[in-house]
Amino acid sequence: MLCCMADPVVSWAEQLEPVLRFLNASVCSADDPLASVAACRFWLADRGHPAPPAGRADHALLLDLRGALRRIVVPADEAAQRLSQVAARCRVTPRFEPGLGGRCVWRLTAPAGTNRYAADLLTIVLRSMADGSWARLRICPGLDCGLVFLDTTRAGLRTWCSMSRCGNRAKQARWRAHQARERC
Ligand SMILES: [Zn+2]
Repeated sequence: MLCCMADPVVSWAEQLEPVLRFLNASVCSADDPLASVAACRFWLADRGHPAPPAGRADHALLLDLRGALRRIVVPADEAAQRLSQVAARCRVTPRFEPGLGGRCVWRLTAPAGTNRYAADLLTIVLRSMADGSWARLRICPGLDCGLVFLDTTRAGLRTWCSMSRCGNRAKQARWRAHQARERC
């Protein structure tokens, strides 16, 4: 049986962790770990990727994929079209293999190099869109933040990446604005 869903024992957060790490790479550190071909090689090797990027084309593909995926967190026609164009450059094909309990599972695969990493990311994205978890991704509106996070609240109304990082800053800003109005 064809199965396009993620293994149910894998939580949404676990499933999306590699994608969130990829999308937030430049937000979480002062220097973008994908800023150069050399940095990108290190990033992939650090994740146990067997074939580091061959060169600038692969590096550019990863940067474009990151940009396209960040845009599609907030749905828009233009963002979907852009992601389709980047995905086409990944030259991915589906491969079917036996999974847990004998069920057939699929993954996207690509010839070699960076494309395999891109294929792994796209596999997670497609599974996430199929199981509904992609609709729970948000981009934090905090000042200078932009972190992509998974909203795991029951109501699905979480605004901030975290209260300690951005929620409290927003509260404090509102309080200061309130105090300033009081003084006027
Ligand atoms: Zn934030």
